[in-house]
Amino acid sequence: MQRFSAWSLLKQAFGSHGGWQPQWRRATPKPAYDAIVVGGGGHGLGTAYYLAAEHGLRNIALLEKSWIGGGNTGRNTTILRSNYLFDESARLYDHSLKMWRDLSQVLNYNVMYSPRGVLMLAHSVHDVQVLKRHIHANRCNGVDNEWLSPAEAKAFCPPLNIERNIRYPVMGGALQRRGGTARHDAVAWGYARAADALGVDIIENCEVTGIRRDAGGAIQGVETSLGYIASRKVGVVAAGNSSVVMGMAGVRLPLESFPLQALVSEPVKPVMPCVVMSNSIHAYVSQSDKGELVIGAGTDAYTSYTQRGALHVNMHTLAAICELFPAFRRMRMLRNWGGIVDVSPDRSPIIAKTAVPGLYVNCGWGTGGFKATPGSAHLFAWTMAHDEPHPINAPFTIERFREGLLIDEAAAAAVAH
Ligand SMILES: Cc1cc2nc3c(=O)[nH]c(=O)nc-3n(C[C@H](O)[C@H](O)[C@H](O)COP(=O)(O)OP(=O)(O)OC[C@H]3O[C@@H](n4cnc5c(N)ncnc54)[C@H](O)[C@@H]3O)c2cc1C
Repeated sequence: MQRFSAWSLLKQAFGSHGGWQPQWRRATPKPAYDAIVVGGGGHGLGTAYYLAAEHGLRNIALLEKSWIGGGNTGRNTTILRSNYLFDESARLYDHSLKMWRDLSQVLNYNVMYSPRGVLMLAHSVHDVQVLKRHIHANRCNGVDNEWLSPAEAKAFCPPLNIERNIRYPVMGGALQRRGGTARHDAVAWGYARAADALGVDIIENCEVTGIRRDAGGAIQGVETSLGYIASRKVGVVAAGNSSVVMGMAGVRLPLESFPLQALVSEPVKPVMPCVVMSNSIHAYVSQSDKGELVIGAGTDAYTSYTQRGALHVNMHTLAAICELFPAFRRMRMLRNWGGIVDVSPDRSPIIAKTAVPGLYVNCGWGTGGFKATPGSAHLFAWTMAHDEPHPINAPFTIERFREGLLIDEAAAAAVAH
């Protein structure tokens, strides 16, 4: 791997940057691998990287049906935070938030992690109670989160409208200062480059179309659009398509897939110093380094596999954002898009081995898995390598939906997100 450094950048600058190698090889599939990861999003690429970097596996394939990062990894609004209510979630998401801090150094790739603070707004007495409950629970778990009055929220985020007579009046907010953003494409590219350097075959345009099991039921390999590939260890990290892929092995998942949308404005000078989220109206906004306002909307009300969504969802979000930030009213929206999110009944993920020997699944991240990318990949690689869950992801099983041991972040947030 050609390393990035001030010296290598300077050297390449003198050669008009013509000397850079491709960031990863264009691999063709071998007949068999020690482990296969299905899905080339951040979670899948990270899993392949940690399998190679921390568990000594070298003969690994990463299979992606289109281009890496073309799924939700490249479509999200890049918000990072760890202020979830339950102890299990706090351990999982904070494991990840801590890994973001030095991810650029670990991968030798700038993922543009920016801990600019995430402010979650309260618009009703109920919201205030819910967010304050989170703050207390987070502090018990060693996770930073603090309450801001409307005036303090305005001081932290000057464009915010705290007038009392608006449709969604701001009654305060919960601020996680360590929260922020990272560049989502860079996360996929950084993991791909580092995994490739350790010998992982990253195979794009390779769709998994079937999963073969032997007479005893164990995993034998996968059928793909490029032919059959054998492996006794297969990890599925296919986000919105998880239930489709797992269905190929005869495993039913308690997931529903919905379109979730985002949009960006025309670029403007720096105006938004932090990330602001409103769970009640499911609108969130931050500003990218290019200057665009990055705006996230809610999920459509019905299930679908289209990577776009209904216009009225965006209109509702924009109406709320224009009230919260009157200064943005005259801005033009540049483009919008959607991704397919896999939503579990308790809005917590599944990171687990399955009842099928050799088959593992990492899914159910719904609308909020980008923030968990390094931690999730790290723990899933551990689970695949050891054939048992790491203590942090041990509660995130498929069986919890049968046994009733839910990690109910949906009820905790008190909104249908
Ligand atoms: C609009 C939007 C906004 C969001 N905002 C945020 C946010 O601000 N913060 C946050 O934390 N999260 C956010 N999320 C959620 C987050 O993007 C996802 O939870 C996360 O990116 C999932 O990562 P992944 O690597 O599992 O999935 P993906 O990046 O979707 O990767 C899965 C890959 O599997 C591939 N695949 C599927 N089927 C097959 C097959 N049969 N064979 C081979 N490959 C296959 C897909 O092509 C895809 O590339 C948002 C999502 C969307 C859509």
